[in-house]
Amino acid sequence: MLYVLPMRMFLLVSLAFFSILLSPSARTAADGWVAVSSDAYLQLEDDDLRRNQGVSGFLDGIAVSQLRFSENGFDWHLIRFTNPAKPDGPLWMVPHDDENAAFDAMIAAVKEYGGVGIAVNSGPGSLRRQAGYGPCGVRLAKSSSCDPNRNFDHHTPLFTSAFLSQRVPGQPVIALHTNTHGFSGDGQGGRGEITIVDRDAYRRGEIKPRDGGLFAIQPRPEMANYDTLGLTAYLASEGKPPKDAEKCGRAIADAGVHFWHERVIQSDGSMSNYLVLNQPDIPYFNAESRDDIDLALSASRHAIMVKAYIERCMSGNQPAS
Ligand SMILES: [Zn+2]
Repeated sequence: MLYVLPMRMFLLVSLAFFSILLSPSARTAADGWVAVSSDAYLQLEDDDLRRNQGVSGFLDGIAVSQLRFSENGFDWHLIRFTNPAKPDGPLWMVPHDDENAAFDAMIAAVKEYGGVGIAVNSGPGSLRRQAGYGPCGVRLAKSSSCDPNRNFDHHTPLFTSAFLSQRVPGQPVIALHTNTHGFSGDGQGGRGEITIVDRDAYRRGEIKPRDGGLFAIQPRPEMANYDTLGLTAYLASEGKPPKDAEKCGRAIADAGVHFWHERVIQSDGSMSNYLVLNQPDIPYFNAESRDDIDLALSASRHAIMVKAYIERCMSGNQPAS
């Protein structure tokens, strides 16, 4: 008896110790995210939070936390926005800190649809690329700056999992970007990264969608530009997009949104490429809105694209029946 009692106490104490380790709060602490109180937002030195500090109710109902870590020569600062009232929502992401409308659209989306939003903070400026020195994502040569949306790869497990570990199972990943006007070589000084038109045909004066692209059906005036589009990715080795993705694309185009089935041969380090090659079970949608001086106009295009995806594709590429 004298021996059994201390043994039982030992077991109970051990059990309590391990339950603390496994509790949600302990896991949160272990993965490095730190809660940020509202009076400390400006201390994060994020241009997006600073820009919106005077906007009444901008972060109402949103919990903010941050994560800092270093990987492959780059120091990363991620800011996470969750909606405690609606935890079961998409994983929203804004990897480019200079795409201010995408940030504003993400906060609005987390409020409306719930889930978790993650933005990369490049520092007090509003920079597209992270300064540092090392290999960036799929590019093994060292570089003095890294494009966050080229940094999703097996070589960057911390960066990649910092985003994907925050996804609620069954929920899609929705990336929000802004896209500068036109494209290089369009004859009008364009330099955007993505367009819905076939570039070669455009240079010949012919307007037609690019390979895998669908023009929006009767788009609203604000959606009728070639730089605003939604996209999902598919593997080139499969020859064409899966049937459900085809239906989703058609449904989004029918909603007045240009849509592009991005054909992926090998990863460029973007989230769309990473997921289709490595975790094709995770549904992904990317909304590209034309950059505009009026951030609210640009963000309103994101809202239209997100609504079309959520209403017409349900989760992932599954079309709404
Ligand atoms: Zn972007």
